[in-house]
This record gives sequence, structure tokens and C-alpha cells, in this order.
Amino acid sequence: MLQPAAIDGLAFARNAAVLEGRLGMESLPRLAQSGCSGSVLGFVLTGEVNERGKPGLRLAVDGSVRLQCQRCLGALELPLHLEAQLELTSSEAEITAADDDVERVVASREMSVAALVEDEVLLALPMVPKHEQCSAATGLRADAEPSAFQALAALRKRSFSGG
Ligand SMILES: [Zn+2]
Repeated sequence: MLQPAAIDGLAFARNAAVLEGRLGMESLPRLAQSGCSGSVLGFVLTGEVNERGKPGLRLAVDGSVRLQCQRCLGALELPLHLEAQLELTSSEAEITAADDDVERVVASREMSVAALVEDEVLLALPMVPKHEQCSAATGLRADAEPSAFQALAALRKRSFSGG
């Protein structure tokens, strides 16, 4: 994966540059820490001057991450199709002072592409990942430790149902 690890934010925006690539979990340590595993995420980063006349970045992320269902403890594949629009600012204070819904990030000459992707994916992850239709018995308390047998039974059920 030969691609620049970092961009000069303002130059990238002004030049309307485009960077495409793929990132594995080894480049996304914070995602790995939050329980994601075994995925490669594709991204497209585009520089722009936004509708407010400010330099900005658009980031699209496609792929999926594998999490652990907090109800049955089975693997949970979460598809990701994110599009974010970020406005570049010169300082953290500018971000704090703003009281609108615009997503902002401090511009620098070396903005880590992986960190930008990671931030967006982390925002999109559910607080408590769960299968939408979980095969574990309903009513199992999230903080209760299911037995190994329960977890195994859940896995079996899942593989029989093909999902
Ligand atoms: Zn589940």
C-alpha cells in the first residue's frame, strides 16, 4: 500500500486534490482498540473549497468492520458507507467557538490520512454493537456473562440460518 500517509491540509483543499487508497487494521490502531478486526477500508479523500468559501475535505469510506455482538458475543459484520465533509480551521479554539453543525478539523501541513479515516469510522460505530436480529435469547442482560455454551449455541444457530 504505497500512498502518502499524510497530506498538507490547506494545499490539498486548494488544489482540489484527490487521494484514494485502502487501509488495513494495522494502520488503524484506535479502531483495533475499540474491538474492530480483520477488515480493509477503502477511502477517497477529496480537497475542496466548500460552499462557505472555506477550505475543506470530503472523505468517503467504504468497507466493513468486524465487531463483537454484545448480546451473543458472536462476530458482527458492520458495513460502512460513510461520507463526511470537514471544514479546515486554523485552531482548536475556532472549533470550540463554533456553534453550528459543521464538522471541523484543524488544518496542518501533515494531516494523517489514517487518523482522518479513523475519526470518521469511530464516530459511526455503535456504542454497543448488537446484531439487528440477534440469535441470543432476548432478555439476556448486557452486563451478564453468558456461558461458553450459550455463546457456542448462538454461533451454531447463526451458521444454520446462513447469516
Ligand atoms: Zn448477536
